[in-house]
This record gives sequence, structure tokens and C-alpha cells, in this order.
Amino acid sequence: MAEEITQNMPKLQLDEETGEMVSKAELKKRQQKRAKKAAQEKARAEKAAAGSAPAKPKATAPKAEETATDPEQMFKVGWLADVYKERPEKNVVTRFPPEPNGFLHIGHAKAIAINFGFAKYHGGVCYLRFDDTNPEKEEEKYFTAIKDIVEWLGFKPYKITYSSDNFQKLYDLAEEMINMNKAYVCSCNDTEIKLQRGGEKGAHERYRCAHAEQTAEDNLQKFRDMRDGKYKPKEVFLRMKQDITDGNPQMWDLAAYRIKTDQPHHRTGWDWKIYPTYDFTHCLCDSFEGITHSLCTTEFIQSRVSYEWLNKTLKVYEPMQREYGRLNLFGTVLSKRKIMKLVEEKIVRDWDDPRLYTLIGIKRRGVPPAAILEFINELGVTTNATALPVHRFEQSVRKYLEKTTPRLMLILDPIPVVVEDAEPADIELPFSPKDPKMGSHIVKFTSTIYIDRSDFREEDSKDYFRLAPNKSVGLLNVQYPIKATSFTKDPETGKVTEVRAVFDKETKKPKTYISWVGTEGSKKVEARVHNQLFKSEKPEDVEGGFLNDINQDSEVIYHDAIIENGFDEVRRRAPWPEAAGESELGKGGPESVRFQAMRVAYFALDTDTTEDKIVLNRIVSLKEDAGKK
Ligand code: ATP
Ligand code: MG
Repeated sequence: MAEEITQNMPKLQLDEETGEMVSKAELKKRQQKRAKKAAQEKARAEKAAAGSAPAKPKATAPKAEETATDPEQMFKVGWLADVYKERPEKNVVTRFPPEPNGFLHIGHAKAIAINFGFAKYHGGVCYLRFDDTNPEKEEEKYFTAIKDIVEWLGFKPYKITYSSDNFQKLYDLAEEMINMNKAYVCSCNDTEIKLQRGGEKGAHERYRCAHAEQTAEDNLQKFRDMRDGKYKPKEVFLRMKQDITDGNPQMWDLAAYRIKTDQPHHRTGWDWKIYPTYDFTHCLCDSFEGITHSLCTTEFIQSRVSYEWLNKTLKVYEPMQREYGRLNLFGTVLSKRKIMKLVEEKIVRDWDDPRLYTLIGIKRRGVPPAAILEFINELGVTTNATALPVHRFEQSVRKYLEKTTPRLMLILDPIPVVVEDAEPADIELPFSPKDPKMGSHIVKFTSTIYIDRSDFREEDSKDYFRLAPNKSVGLLNVQYPIKATSFTKDPETGKVTEVRAVFDKETKKPKTYISWVGTEGSKKVEARVHNQLFKSEKPEDVEGGFLNDINQDSEVIYHDAIIENGFDEVRRRAPWPEAAGESELGKGGPESVRFQAMRVAYFALDTDTTEDKIVLNRIVSLKEDAGKK
């Protein structure tokens, strides 16, 4: 029976317009018809527009490259290649320096890919350094989440360090600065400092306050008093004595140390009452760790001068700082404060909600780490900021999933079809039509099967090609089409509860094929289909703010979806080989169980899955517009 039922299956392709599986010939026919119709419409529109306003050039959406890109391209050519040429070190040392005050987002993935990737490409090492100079808002969960996400992306930090490891060393260097007459304790307030720095828009000349003339001894005493808690916060601070004649504001006697006494530090507790600023800390920590290339984002371009000045002044090892453009997505929000609001208002499940672009959210949704790296690599690195719509990211993920995921049949909204003359049969289904290496599995055809509610109509019509009374439709990988003979409805809801059908052995080539799942070995699952969380491309600009832009259909849940028996094997074998790095370092979690549900979408196992309940997330739709309605 197995052989008989699967004989002579034509090669099928997805008709993206209708979501139907059809033969190559049928697809060609449909496409020609559509092209003709489009051409006619265009001609009509042009005729109507003739004589009126000149036609505007059409904006075209950027397309994901169709051809495969060298996975190391971003290091071989362009900005990163130039940075290396500028300082061709044998032993490259880099660092990724997040502040441990929140979860990382897609933009940080670029910083991770650049810093860890650059070191790896040149055979060097990269530190994960928590920039924890601020005693506020640091929670253990952020440290863990950041470390986990770096590993999930496939990178192993050479060492995990903390800026706070260097508090004593930094303090000693601050005293050294004072002794060199290169730092002073100042008690000016904000207004005075602003005036010293030239006032509003640099209206008058810059000058130094009298504190800059204090003796080193005097400054040292005051700095020690700061350390010992003899001043209140904001009363005084330590300033570097730089060069106020320089055109760069980063040279106008920046703060080096401030008093902070209201909270204990995550690692040093109440040991310190003074904390070093970013400008004082970052370049010195880079120097201590022997960082060769300190790669950061372009808002630090001006800071390069003070970065170099401090290391030079203290005569310590000098790393090279260079700046690249940030990566931002629009159509979503990335700022911590805004995501916090979404979590608090229970608009999303949590920080790892699959609709968010936090990296833990993207991970939970099922996006493979290698797809993120491929996306970043293909964008390349320059000094320009990159801002892209979220669907551009999804397009890239889709392309990656297309070549790496096995295929299964899943029915989101099932109705049973009793095929009256059918007998149970085993049908061999390849996991990938293109890649035989993925292998195949047996799906059980049973006399009752489930099809999707949307694939059946109570009333037939001429332009409809799926199942209807007295109409035949093909079943994927089954030799004979089925023809519906009758159906029953629930009198209360008016919904179809069962369809009865028979094999149609006369029709050799059905117009279209639909997916189905048998009753044997299949499982009920909850499928969560995510759409964009926001309605517009710029949620922040919407009147009343981003909370007024929430798409109410951003999560559609199918509680009674049914997955075929092949799911067990997909789960057992996950992650599928091409999900690079994930198995070794990323401790493949449920989200590494990914598949393409034929004709439906790409799905992954959700963390809410338990022994008794399978929960799936839609990673992305099969084609761009399917989710946008
Ligand atoms: P910001 O400093 O903008 O508030 P953040 O505080 O969220 O960012 P940090 O912890 O300071 O993030 O970031 C760690 C590293 O990641 C820094 O080197 C930073 O430049 C980089 N980074 C942050 N956001 C982006 C982005 N959108 N694109 C590329 N790199 C980024
Ligand atoms: Mg920051």
C-alpha cells in the first residue's frame, strides 16, 4: 500500500499567493496569468495617469542577497579589514564591554559579532568585560543572561572580567594623576562648569576655575577625603586637567571620579564611596587587558581624543580605539525603559517574549544564532549607522531557515476528514526536498486525517481549488486526491465538525495539494503565531507614544493544532547540523527544535513546553507578507 499510495508524485512547489502546493506546470500557468493581469492593470493605470502628474519612480524594498556570502566577509573586506591593516597585530586582543544593567538586544549582537568575531578571525582572544563602574541597577540575572547569550551566539570569552576588578588600580592611578598635576578636586556646580566650558553654544571663552590651581598635596588630601566619605555626593569631584584650548569638548577637564554613597556595589559592596567615570575607566581597563583594537560605536568618536590622552599621560600601554556604526531596527522598540514598560503593562509575556528584539526574545522565538551572525555579516561593517525595518531581518532569517530546517506537516486549525475507502499506510517523506542528507521519515496515513479548516469550503466556486463537496484536492505525498462527499456542522457554532470523502482515482493531476496529518503518532500542540507587535514603522512617533501603537493581533494562539509523528525525530535530532555553534556552547534549549511546517510557517519549540504539553512559536512566515495580512 505504501508504494501504491506514494507513486508518481509530481514535484510540488508553493504558490506564494495562495499558499497552495501545486505542480511546476500549474504554478507556471498561474504566474503567467497573474503577470498578464498585472501588465493589463499597469497599462490601464498608465493610461489614466497620462497627461496628469509625471509618474514617480517606485521605491523598491531592499532584497536579501540571493547568493551565499562568505561567512567571514565582514573581516576580509571593508572597515574591519582596514582597522586591522592600521594595526596588524600578531596577537589580537579585543573586548565586549556591556553594562550589566539590562538584557542585550539585536544591536548588541553586532557588537558581539564584531569584537568576538574579529579576534577569532585573526586567531586572537576577546574578553567579556562587564562595565560595572556604576553601583546602580546591577542585578545578577543580567550578568548571567549576557554571558549566556554570548555563548549562544557561538563565542567563548577568553576571560570574564569586571571593570570593578580594577577599582584599586584605578584609584592608584588617579592619585598618580594628582601627583603629576594632571587632576584636581573641584567643587563647582553644574552651572559654573557649563560657563567654564564656554556657556550656551560656546558664547564666550572657556576658562578654568581656581580649583585647577590647587597644589598636588591639597588635591591629594581632598581626594582621600572623598574616598573616606568626608564629603557628600555632588559636593566635590575629581577632574582631569586636560587641554581646554582643544576644540574637542572631551578635552575640557572631564570628570574622573564621583561620590556615590546611596547603594552598595554588586561586587565590592560598601567598600567604595567614590566611583570612576566611563572616561576614566574604559581606556585604562582596555590598557590593563592589553586590548589591541578597542572597537566601539560612533558616538565615541569624540572620546577617542580623551581615551588616547589618558593612556599617554599615564604612560601605560596604548590600545587603538576605532568606531563603527550602530545597528538599529525600526518597527519595534529597543530601549530598556520602553521594553520595561511593555513587560510591566503585561503587553508582552516577559523580556524574552518572541515578539521583542531582545536577544533572549529572538532566541526564544527560535531564530538560530547563525542566522543572526549571517545577517550581520551580510550587512557588513562601516562607520554609518544601519537602520532597517524588522521585516528585513526576518527575510534574512527565512533565507537561513529555508536551507537548514527539516519539513513537517502541521495543521493549525484542524477538521477531521474520514476517507471512507482508505486504509492505513506508511508514506516516506523526505525532511528536505533539496537536501537528501537530512534523511526522511515515515508518516502514517490513516483513514481519518486532519486538514486545515481553511482548506475546506462548504460551497465550491470556480476560482477555488481546494476541498469542497464534490471537489477533489491532492494530499501532499499521497497518490490519489480525495473528493469530499458530505460534511457535518455543529448546529450551535455553525462550524464544520467533520468531512467525509473518498479517493478520487479518476483525477490524475489535481490542481493543488494540501497538507494533512494522520491520527497515528500525531500530537496536539499549542501553536503561537506572532505578528508584529506594533502597527507602524516608527512606534515612538505615534501620537500618545508607542503604547498607542500596539497591534492587538500580535499573538494568535491555536490551542488545538496537530503535528505529525515526524516531530519526535526532529526533536530528538535537534539542533539540526547547520545551526552552527549552538550545540557546543549554547546548550541547545527547546528553541533549537526547529522545522518548516509545510504551507504554514517556520516553527520552534517554546520554553513553556512541559512533559504534557507542546508549545510552538512561529519563527517567521514562509513569505514576507503572509503575516501582515
Ligand atoms: P547605550 O550605551 O547606547 O545605552 P547600552 O547601554 O544598551 O547602549 P552597552 O552595555 O553600553 O549598551 O553596550 C555594550 C556594547 O554594545 C558597547 O560597545 C556599545 O557600543 C555596543 N552597542 C550598543 N548598542 C548597539 C547597537 N545598536 N549597535 C551596535 N552596537 C551597539
Ligand atoms: Mg551604554
